[in-house]
Amino acid sequence: MTQHSAQIAIIGGGISGLWLLNSLRNAGYDAVLFEKNTLGSQQTFASQGMIHGGIKYALGGFTTPASETIADMPSVWRNCIAGQGPVDLKNLNLLSEDYYLFSDGSLSSKVTGFFASKSLRGRINALSRTDYPEVFANREFNGSLYQLQDIVIDTPALISKLSQQQTNYIYHAEPQVVTDNGEVSYLQLPRDQSLKADRYIFAAGAGNAPLLSGTALEKSQMQTRPLQQVMLKGQLPSIYAHAVSLKTVAKPRITFSTHPALDGDKVWYLGGNLAEQGVGMTAGKLIDFAQRELRDLLPWIDLTNAEWATLNIDRAEPAQKENNRPDHPFLKCAGNCLVAWPTKLTLVPMLADMVLDELTGPNTTLVPQAQQGSYPDLPLAQIAKTPWENSFG
Ligand SMILES: Cc1cc2nc3c(=O)[nH]c(=O)nc-3n(C[C@H](O)[C@H](O)[C@H](O)COP(=O)(O)OP(=O)(O)OC[C@H]3O[C@@H](n4cnc5c(N)ncnc54)[C@H](O)[C@@H]3O)c2cc1C
Repeated sequence: MTQHSAQIAIIGGGISGLWLLNSLRNAGYDAVLFEKNTLGSQQTFASQGMIHGGIKYALGGFTTPASETIADMPSVWRNCIAGQGPVDLKNLNLLSEDYYLFSDGSLSSKVTGFFASKSLRGRINALSRTDYPEVFANREFNGSLYQLQDIVIDTPALISKLSQQQTNYIYHAEPQVVTDNGEVSYLQLPRDQSLKADRYIFAAGAGNAPLLSGTALEKSQMQTRPLQQVMLKGQLPSIYAHAVSLKTVAKPRITFSTHPALDGDKVWYLGGNLAEQGVGMTAGKLIDFAQRELRDLLPWIDLTNAEWATLNIDRAEPAQKENNRPDHPFLKCAGNCLVAWPTKLTLVPMLADMVLDELTGPNTTLVPQAQQGSYPDLPLAQIAKTPWENSFG
């Protein structure tokens, strides 16, 4: 067996693993990453790419721990995109600089009053008709439209940028974790190779649970929360917005994002309450429901020639009471292992800070070593296809 070494081995090539690889290597650590499928292939490419400031979690009319934790994140990402953050995202393509929230005209004055309240000042602006984006500039739209601070990232462009900066350290392999007394001894790799590291970071999303077996982190429980998202493809206008109404005040009725298809069409990707209600439905039944919702919310948009599909995907997170949504990124450390779930794409920079704090903490200091380990002879991991490429070609 050929033995290799590095300071830090990261398992999982979604946004968490790739962001950590970049921030750790930028901080001088000798880090490598292993991805068993393709980069971005699970939650990261299934996400809607919204870097949000938490208004979505304040729709009930009050700010919450989730809305407060996340409030500064759009500006952290904007700094990285300006080339001034811990990870270089200079010139990253944004799908949209703006995100909107629209009501169907039935929103109670309580919630409307809250949107205008002091606690949200500067985070949400009511728009007048002259400033409406194209998709809402229709006489049939009689609701209210608000602009949020959120931005929308093109996740394939994000993963491509993060992987291009570290190409030689991202391997296509499913390592076998070999443990001894709760510590990881080494990773067993294909082609009769192994890799020993000072620290092992599990950033494998839903794949974390099986990886922890035999380590001191075995008791870190994971939860999954399923969703069935809806996709429709055609000659469509762009829409980046939450639809809210009295029916679903506390949660967006539909969360819309728009993504480019390879043939020049656009794909509307629909989440929010629609995707939660869709769990357990057949694809056909959910598509019928989505068509009714869209006729109700955006009756002026012609969808007769659109192609439709759905995507079943689980959110993987640290376990919470009653399977509730976690508010913070999660990091737990024991011995030479760390397990990480960001809980949101938006919160990954915060997760990376937590990892760096842990590595430089008084009891656990790992001094960055510029000198390179000896790296395995393995193929490099490739970037995944998006869910809409998989569904529509
Ligand atoms: C439908 C949906 C929409 C979302 N929208 C948003 C949004 O708009 N904004 C937001 O902030 N958040 C959003 N999220 C949450 C966000 O997508 C996730 O928090 C984030 O992508 C998690 O990234 P990750 O890298 O931890 O996990 P993942 O993206 O799931 O990546 C884990 C990677 O690990 C690999 N892996 C697994 N097991 C192994 C193994 N044994 N060996 C090697 N590799 C392994 C997998 O193949 C995968 O590539 C959304 C989530 C979903 C499901």
